[in-house]
Parts: sequence; C-alpha cells; structure tokens
Amino acid sequence: MKFSDLNLLDPILDALASQGYETPTPIQEQAIPSILLHRDLLGAAQTGTGKTAAFAIPILQNLMSTRSHPRQIQALILTPTRELAIQIEESFRAYGKNLPLKSVVVYGGVKQYQQELELEKGTDILIATPGRLLDFIGQGIIQLHHLQIFVLDEADRMLDMGFVHDVRRILKVIPAKRQNLFFSATMPKEIADLASEILHNPVKVEVTPVSSTAETIQQSLYYVDKE
Ligand code: AMP
Repeated sequence: MKFSDLNLLDPILDALASQGYETPTPIQEQAIPSILLHRDLLGAAQTGTGKTAAFAIPILQNLMSTRSHPRQIQALILTPTRELAIQIEESFRAYGKNLPLKSVVVYGGVKQYQQELELEKGTDILIATPGRLLDFIGQGIIQLHHLQIFVLDEADRMLDMGFVHDVRRILKVIPAKRQNLFFSATMPKEIADLASEILHNPVKVEVTPVSSTAETIQQSLYYVDKE
C-alpha cells in the first residue's frame, strides 16, 4: 500500500513525500481510513509505530473538509508530556505545511505569556498537556465550543503521571458531539474503563511494537562483572 491509495488530498501527499514518507506504517494503514470516515478509534500502539501521523494526517484532512470555524479550536490533542506535545505539533506542521490550518502547542513548566500570544492569533488545532490546558480554560483564554475532534494520546502514561482526574475535568467542558481518538500502549482496567466512557462504537486498531521479538525466540539474561 502507498499513501496515494488512502484518498488523501494532494497537498497532504506532497507534504508526506517531502518528509520522505513512502509507505504508511501498519497503524497508519489501519487507522487513517476509519478516521477519515469520522469514526471513533481505539488504538493500542506506542511511540515509534507512526501513531502521530496515523491521527494527524486524517485530522488535517477532516478539518479541510469542514472548515466551519477557521482559527477556532476544532481539534484538541491531549498528551502527557511537554516533549510529546512539541513533537506532535511539529508533525502537524510538517504534514499540514501546504494547508491553511494552524496549530498551537501549550504545556506547563514555562511561563504562559508566549503561549497566550500564540493563542490570541487563533488556531484550528491545539496540542496540550492537561494541567496547562485547564489553567487556560479557567482563565477564559481557551474556549472549546467548536471542538470536533478529541485525541487522548498515551492514555496509560496519563494515568501513571496522575493526570486522569484532569482529563475527566476537560471532558466535562468539551462538546459531547465529537469524534474521539484514544491511544494507549497498554490497557489496564482504569484505562479500558475510561476508553469505554469516551468512545462510541470505536474501530479497534492494534499494532505490535517495532521492537518486539518473535515469540519463538527464547531469551536469557546473565549478569557478569564489568571486566
Ligand atoms: P511516532 O510513533 O508517531 O512517534 O513516529 C515515529 C517516527 O516515525 C517519527 O520520527 C516519524 O517521523 C516517523 N514516521 C511516521 N510515519 C512514517 C512513515 N509512513 N514513513 C516513514 N517514517 C515515518
């Protein structure tokens, strides 16, 4: 399969080609068609599988087809760490470089002024860590009335880092009618419960981590002295 078999817009195909992407990874091949059909999705996948592009590419395309509220937040990606947030925003910028859509990233641990200036200019896509997003919502700086697509990335890490309560608070203030994409490398019970609360009749996509070994290989570990 090639990206050109996925019914993507030419400006997106051109951007992918300029990134040097030739073929979709398994999660991209499985997830992109369903997301383009506005289905909810449960993705069991970790970083390194190409999952960012698996949601970023069809989100860009879906926003191009609606374009109902330019420069208002129509897609929100929640992710647990600043580093992931920055990487995801860079991906949106790379794949959407030929499109008139804008993305902004906000995260905690730095002063909010610069991020506030970016938000004032308006954005179609917002990538955020939960605490900083709640701060901005509380101050009336971010409004999410026009949200159409909600992505919860690395849900199991959200749980590990104690963010699930924040995620639930965010869910209460976003429109109920929306497309939901939920990604987690593992599915402990609390995360499976959260997924079933958020998702409506989701398409399920699971990919084996790139680094996993074949089950037929038996592995042993021997500790030895340094020398
Ligand atoms: P991710 O799992 O989203 O963190 O992506 C892992 C890495 O794979 C990133 O550096 C991406 O730029 C790269 N990548 C994602 N999709 C593709 C693709 N279809 N072809 C080549 N590289 C890709």
